[in-house]
Amino acid sequence: MLTGVQVLLLGGDARQLEVIRKLTELDAAVTAAGFDQLHTPLDGAVQADYADDLFDGVDAIVLPPVGTDDDGRITAVFSDRELVLSGMQLARVPKHCVVYAGMAKPYLRELCEQYGIRLVELFDRDDVAIYNSIPTAEGAVMMAIQNTDITIHGSNCMVLGIGRTGLTLARTLQGLGAKVKTGVRREEHFARAHEMGFEPFYLSQLVQHAANIDLLFNTIPTMIVTAQIIANLPSRAVIIDLASKPGGTDFRFAEKRGIKALLAPGLPGIVAPKTAGRIIADCLSRLIMEDTNKRGNGQ
Ligand code: NAP
Repeated sequence: MLTGVQVLLLGGDARQLEVIRKLTELDAAVTAAGFDQLHTPLDGAVQADYADDLFDGVDAIVLPPVGTDDDGRITAVFSDRELVLSGMQLARVPKHCVVYAGMAKPYLRELCEQYGIRLVELFDRDDVAIYNSIPTAEGAVMMAIQNTDITIHGSNCMVLGIGRTGLTLARTLQGLGAKVKTGVRREEHFARAHEMGFEPFYLSQLVQHAANIDLLFNTIPTMIVTAQIIANLPSRAVIIDLASKPGGTDFRFAEKRGIKALLAPGLPGIVAPKTAGRIIADCLSRLIMEDTNKRGNGQ
């Protein structure tokens, strides 16, 4: 339980409603700001206007999946007011306070470092990334269906990178009956892809494998689907780039060649905000509980 733990939750979207639900179920004292336009009451949480004194004495600050922007602004889809995190506010929190966000931009990292506040980036964690890969793969399939006139069953798919997202996606496509090629750079990934019934190839040979592809999914966060690769794709091919912005595709060249190429960020929050919220909530509540127990044990 989180009885007696003071949590300040700032901004976010529908995913944070799941976080609030979970934390209040566990009896944390949750104050939430950035929800003034939400027309339903927040289960068990205190709804407050954003103000400096909200930071006094809090044990945890929960920020949205993208913590803040480069100027400290916190996204709050349920509010039209501006929420900005500044040093003045972090100076008010106790030293044991932890800041949780899905991911942090340099602004947030530097601010936390400056004030000696521990920052936890949840999307860095393997467990969260693997759970998140499920709605991501479903979202990628949704985009593929929306942007093609063929079935995924029987199609020639290519997945670049078989990390946490790529592996789930490749397996999902295979489950739908697609022929799946996977581009890897490591021998052990080649072996794993072979074992799982994909058709692996080394990324150094990507250009040779580009012909006859219907759907190309990229999960590699570096320029990999270059003009040379796009030039070798059939004109019917659709590229769905899942890698974090700016993606790994030469979008300019794809447009020039008339190949549909889509950057698809933030799919879990789009296609399954409830599930995505639960993934964050489960991990977050476990971590806050661990931190609270450590403090209780004087660690
Ligand atoms: P991951 O587990 O680290 O997997 C990344 C894959 O890319 C690995 O197979 C890695 O191979 C490969 N890779 C990385 N750099 C490479 C390079 N320079 N050359 C060749 N291969 C390279 O990451 P993930 O969790 O799957 O996430 C992948 C991307 O998707 C990230 O950008 C993440 O932010 C994004 N993402 C997007 C969504 C969405 O909704 N669109 C959702 C979740 C994640 P090695 O193992 O050999 O390094």
